[in-house]
Amino acid sequence: MPETKYLILGAGPAGLTLGRCLKDRGITDFIILEKENEAGGLCRSEEVDGKPLDIGGGHFLDVRRPKVCEFMFRFLPEDEWNVFDRDSRIRVHGCEISHPFEASIWQLPTEIQKKYLDSIKAAGCNTGAPKPVMFTDWIRWKLGDEIAENYMLPYNRKMFSDTLDELGTYWLEKLPNVSFEETLRSCEEHKSLGTQPGHARFYYPKEYGYGEPFVRMAESMKENIVYGAAVSKLSLKERTVIDINGEKYSAETIVTTIPWDSMEIIGATDEFSESVTKLKHTAVEIRYVSEDPGSKAHWIYVPDPEIAYHRILSRCNFCSDSKGYWVETVSTRTGAYDSTEWKNNFRYLNAYAYPLNTIDKRECMKLISDEAAEYGVIGLGRWGEHEHYNSDVVIEKAMVLSERL
Ligand SMILES: Cc1cc2nc3c(=O)[nH]c(=O)nc-3n(C[C@H](O)[C@H](O)[C@H](O)COP(=O)(O)OP(=O)(O)OC[C@H]3O[C@@H](n4cnc5c(N)ncnc54)[C@H](O)[C@@H]3O)c2cc1C
Repeated sequence: MPETKYLILGAGPAGLTLGRCLKDRGITDFIILEKENEAGGLCRSEEVDGKPLDIGGGHFLDVRRPKVCEFMFRFLPEDEWNVFDRDSRIRVHGCEISHPFEASIWQLPTEIQKKYLDSIKAAGCNTGAPKPVMFTDWIRWKLGDEIAENYMLPYNRKMFSDTLDELGTYWLEKLPNVSFEETLRSCEEHKSLGTQPGHARFYYPKEYGYGEPFVRMAESMKENIVYGAAVSKLSLKERTVIDINGEKYSAETIVTTIPWDSMEIIGATDEFSESVTKLKHTAVEIRYVSEDPGSKAHWIYVPDPEIAYHRILSRCNFCSDSKGYWVETVSTRTGAYDSTEWKNNFRYLNAYAYPLNTIDKRECMKLISDEAAEYGVIGLGRWGEHEHYNSDVVIEKAMVLSERL
């Protein structure tokens, strides 16, 4: 049984960064176990129709964390990335308006702008009504009925289907914040006001897909990575794991970046096991279309419930010399493609795409991380912490953890 100081489960951005940072500190006694035959996790790319395509969905590197960017540039130098100002749009009322909706009402036909302004003015957050606890009520309270009914609720129903009422509101504070006064002024001045969302400015590789820097990162420590090693069991007390090939590994510290419910956990309390079963996620399929998307936007949100996909990623608008686009669709809606001309198009299903921010998730994760930590098992990254983190955030967290370790 291989025994190491550190055992890292998963070779996505979190696991890879942790491994690389340990190595940078001269620590070589670690193993990374990865179920796939390649590294990168949700950030992987594949060549499709002659150009790279990001099989985990649209991925861009936010410019806001300079240390993270510097780290990424070690594997793909800065001059091999293009920098873009975000152009993301929402398809409503037969047109495309910029995101966020409340800052872009001025782009709608003038005859419907007033309806939206009246509705925002009457929203609970502007009339002093108390903040609701249910997701759907919170959306109406914050943005008004018109934005709720024409965009936010249909869009989120497509993303989260029947789990909408199970979602908490604690994570919504991250949404862009545009006041009623700013919306009103933006309609008068014909320009967007208020705080901008993440990725307002982002990097995308010139010649490659988003997965390339992670492939190179993995290559720089290939002797430490075991591929095709899907972890099936984790014993907390023994601090060992077993993979599907029957290999057993033991370590002083285990860092898991894989979903807690993707393995059998031995030696946990009933409360721990119950909390793991309460963690929810969605699966998202990406499907390639070779035609021109007919828009200059980098990506487009599509709230229309009649259309299966919720987002269009216009590859030709950010990946040099490429054509086409891909659509992102929650797995429960992909049956709609069986009878369309897209049914045989390239597609890839991400079984774990979005961790769900359910009402009790924070309590469940606290219990899981506290109990696991007692045995020297640490959760890291999108799945280890079950947080809606972007790659720059997990990279930063892995850097910080490497210092602590
Ligand atoms: C549609 C979509 C769009 C996104 N857009 C962006 C964006 O624009 N910018 C951005 O920065 N981030 C974006 N993200 C988030 C980004 O994908 C994540 O932040 C990042 O991939 C998290 O890295 P991770 O290592 O924590 O998890 P993952 O990337 O999920 O890596 C986990 C790894 O664990 C492996 N694994 C799973 N189970 C097992 C097992 N049982 N045994 C062994 N290995 C296992 C997986 O194969 C994978 O390699 C997006 C995500 C999605 C779904």
